[in-house]
Amino acid sequence: MEMKSKKKRIAILGGGPSGLFVYTRLVESGSNDFEITIFEKKKELGSGMPYSTEGANIEHITNVSDNEVPHIVSSMSDWIYTAPAELLEQYNIKPDQFNEYKVVPRLLFGSYLAAQFEILRKTGKKAGIATAVHFESTITDINYDIKNQTVTVQTTKGSNHEFDFAVICTGHNWPIRYEGKVPGYYDAPYPPRKLIQHFNHPVAIKGSSLTAIDAIRTMARNNGLFEKDSEDNLKFKLNPESTDFKIMMHFRSGMLPAVRFHLEDSHLSNDSLLTKEEIDLHRKSNDGFLSLDFIFEKDFKEIFIEKDPEFYQRIKDFSIEDFVTDMMELRERLDPFQLLRAEYVQAEKSIKRQESIYWKEMLAVLSFAMNHPAKYFSAEDMQRLQKVLMPLISIVIAFVPQKSCEELLALHQAGVLDLVPVGDDSTVEPQNGGGILYNFVDTNNNQRVCIL
Ligand SMILES: Cc1cc2nc3c(=O)[nH]c(=O)nc-3n(C[C@H](O)[C@H](O)[C@H](O)COP(=O)(O)OP(=O)(O)OC[C@H]3O[C@@H](n4cnc5c(N)ncnc54)[C@H](O)[C@@H]3O)c2cc1C
Repeated sequence: MEMKSKKKRIAILGGGPSGLFVYTRLVESGSNDFEITIFEKKKELGSGMPYSTEGANIEHITNVSDNEVPHIVSSMSDWIYTAPAELLEQYNIKPDQFNEYKVVPRLLFGSYLAAQFEILRKTGKKAGIATAVHFESTITDINYDIKNQTVTVQTTKGSNHEFDFAVICTGHNWPIRYEGKVPGYYDAPYPPRKLIQHFNHPVAIKGSSLTAIDAIRTMARNNGLFEKDSEDNLKFKLNPESTDFKIMMHFRSGMLPAVRFHLEDSHLSNDSLLTKEEIDLHRKSNDGFLSLDFIFEKDFKEIFIEKDPEFYQRIKDFSIEDFVTDMMELRERLDPFQLLRAEYVQAEKSIKRQESIYWKEMLAVLSFAMNHPAKYFSAEDMQRLQKVLMPLISIVIAFVPQKSCEELLALHQAGVLDLVPVGDDSTVEPQNGGGILYNFVDTNNNQRVCIL
């Protein structure tokens, strides 16, 4: 049991990126009338899941650059000058060639986050904030005592700890259903080292998110070679022992996520967005609800009046439905790889010129701006958000990094990567002897069963 003290006792449950940001804000709060205890199931703080070997291999990269990461202590471009040389060598990173617009290997980003935690612990100590860290300590239960207003936290080590506040930062988990029971079946691609294998048969991937792209990149480099040709184009060649290796990416919409471009606003915020007061005022005149059309008008369309008047003229009379139809039209019409190549070229220009693709950036801003007030949407608006706007938002704000994009294009060109649209009701049946049956309705409305 923790000793009762006058200081408020705050527990941070999980020491990944969210835990780090909570800790940062507490250390920087200017006050020290509290003490902090961090529980982390692993042996290190900061890297969490995506930026440790639990979520990344050396080939996996972040989809945000230093200028897009919210302030911690030092920026990545400053930290890189203090990072151990042997660490940077592993990733072939030279500090004088690094800049804040570059995406980085996720494992290196994890080292950066871990280093930030260490600096903050020292800063906290100097400021009189006691921090206790329990490594390899997994939280198994949390109980809130309403009467005494305390939180009791239980760990696998069997100990109970009492606090005044607890912040849950335990992040990602991926339930395992068939993995280990069905040969060759993986419920999730994490940890990705399990995909470092030689394959000489087709591999099905369900989904087209960044997670799927991570898995593709890992499998590809273990079954072939990426090389630049004389014109600097990336090519892929299968290894002789993997000639039957092929990746079939199955996904609902048949559309690939959009490519990362230069973001103008580092923290995806915007002064022109609705304030809390404006939202409250609007709700008063709208039976307490926040209208999705209102937020789309104010936090999206009207931003273009100043920023991109031409685009504003194009969309000013659009409803949400019209806008989504217009933006999806090209995606639906073009072959996904043709579109990926076109978007890649456009994004390259945007990064070189440091010019945003403004409507995409503002769509990301809108999605973040809606996070908090979404609870005030009516049931109908919530449905429109989920069914109409979110599919476009999730495609646009995926921000596929350039390097991943180049590899997807090279794999497709080599005939190693294909896409299979499967509609909304597909099912995957793992087979006892290994492999799967993929049931889906194809684009011609024919029921298909694929054995992979
Ligand atoms: C594969 C992948 C790649 C991503 N890449 C990016 C990217 O490039 N850019 C971006 O902006 N976002 C990215 N994300 C989004 C990502 O969600 C966040 O960047 C971030 O990891 C969220 O941090 P978190 O601390 O909430 O969760 P996590 O990273 O999951 O960290 C949770 C921490 O809590 C610990 N923990 C969990 N359960 C317990 C327990 N019971 N007891 C004690 N400790 C526990 C874990 O060990 C871990 O350290 C990615 C997500 C994934 C899955």
